[in-house]
Amino acid sequence: SVPLSFFGGIGGASKCGILVKGSNYLEALANTETVIFDKTGTLTRGTFSVTAVHPESGLDAEQLLAYAALAEYYSDHPISLSLKAACKAELDPARVSDVEEIAGHGVCASIDGKRVCAGNSRLMDRQHIAFQPCGLPGTIVHVTVDGVYAGHILIADQPKEDAKDAIADLKAGGVRKTVMLTGDAQATAEAVASEVGVDEYHAELLPADKVEWMERLLADKSPGGKVAFVGDGINDAPVLTRADIGIAMGALGSDAAIEAADIVLMDDKPSKIATAMRVSRKTLRIVK
Ligand code: ADP
Ligand code: MG
Repeated sequence: SVPLSFFGGIGGASKCGILVKGSNYLEALANTETVIFDKTGTLTRGTFSVTAVHPESGLDAEQLLAYAALAEYYSDHPISLSLKAACKAELDPARVSDVEEIAGHGVCASIDGKRVCAGNSRLMDRQHIAFQPCGLPGTIVHVTVDGVYAGHILIADQPKEDAKDAIADLKAGGVRKTVMLTGDAQATAEAVASEVGVDEYHAELLPADKVEWMERLLADKSPGGKVAFVGDGINDAPVLTRADIGIAMGALGSDAAIEAADIVLMDDKPSKIATAMRVSRKTLRIVK
C-alpha cells in the first residue's frame, strides 16, 4: 500500500506545477544522482528568432524563407515554428506534399512540384550538397531546391532565464553530475553548455545516439542512484522513456512526451526539478 503522505507529496508538487505520476517516482527523485538535459526547448527557450537570411542561386530572401517555411509546414519542431513565424508571405498548405521529416536532420517536401529540403549540415551531407560554412554563432538551416543549394537561414535561441540557477540548484541539492545531450552543432552546444554550467555535454547526436549516452550514464551510476532525463519529447522520446525518471516539459512539449514521461513540468521551468527533489525528500522523511 502507498503511505498517505505520498499523496501529500504528490499534491504538494502539483501545487508547484509539477505533475508526478506515481509515488515511486517521488522516491526515485530523492535519489537522483545524474540529471541529463535535452537542449532545445528544455535548457533553451526553444523559440528561435531568424537573425539572417542568405539566399543563393537567384532567389531573394523572401523566397528562400517561404520555401523553408512551406517545407516545415507540418513540423512541430521549435526550428520550424520560428521559420513559419518569420515568413511574411501567406503559407498555402495546398502547395505542400510528400513531406518527410528526418529526426536530427530536418525536413524535405514537394513545393509546387519542386523538392525542397531544409535542415542542418548532416542533411546536406546526406544529399551530397556542398556549401560554404557560415562561421556565425547560432543554428543554421540550409535550404536546397531540386538538389541545388539555395542558401541558409540563421536562427538564434536563448537559454531559459532560470536554466543557470536550475543547474546550480541541482548541484547544491546533491546531484553529482549534470549533462546536456543535443542534436545541434558543436559550436552552439558549447556556447549553451558553458552559459548554463552543465558538467558535460555531447553534440551532433541523433535520437539513437542520445539513447546510447543514456545507457552509458545508467551503467555509470552507483547502486540505488537514479538517472533523470529532462526533455520536450521532440526527437528525444526514446531517451525519455529509457531514463529511471523521465521528465517532460508540459507547455511546449509534445503530447507524446507528456504521455511517456513520469513527471511533467507544467510551466517548462528547469528550476522546478530541484523543487521536485526537495518535495520528494521532505515526503520521504515523513514516510520513514
Ligand atoms: P536538440 O537535441 O537540441 O533538442 P533536435 O534533436 O531536435 O535538437 O534536432 C537536432 C538538429 O537537427 C537541430 O539543431 C537542427 O539542425 C536539425 N533539425 C531537426 N529537426 C529540424 C527541422 N524540422 N527543421 C530544420 N532542422 C531540423
Ligand atoms: Mg529537442
